[in-house]
Amino acid sequence: MSNCIFCKIVSGDIPAEIIHENDDLLVFRDLNPQAPTHALVIPRRHIATLNDMQAEDAELIGKMHLAAKAVAEQEGIADAGYRTVFNCNAGAGQTVYHIHLHVLGGRPMSWPPG
Ligand code: C5P
Repeated sequence: MSNCIFCKIVSGDIPAEIIHENDDLLVFRDLNPQAPTHALVIPRRHIATLNDMQAEDAELIGKMHLAAKAVAEQEGIADAGYRTVFNCNAGAGQTVYHIHLHVLGGRPMSWPPG
């Protein structure tokens, strides 16, 4: 999608610190980190929100979580604990309409989230 900032990261038109990637997805560090480790897992294909995911995207969703796990191991936060979050639509705080799985860790987390 031409006006999507994360599609521009996928195409290389906007720089990002990519820390993991494969044919389906890439993972880069969040520009405004909310924890010592804060990465975003995004599919290469444009999908606006979690509500737009279809049954045939089940494998992709699984791969996004496996990428989150791989990044947590790579970052050394897997054992201490980390959080994965999809914000879906404005009410949940979604600001970029290309799905992304937040991976946050490296500090204690509280519950419930704000
Ligand atoms: O879930 P939400 O849509 O609010 O998350 C978008 C995230 O994308 C934010 O954490 C923001 O800091 C990040 N971002 C980024 N690089 C950009 C634009 C946004 O890391 N160029």
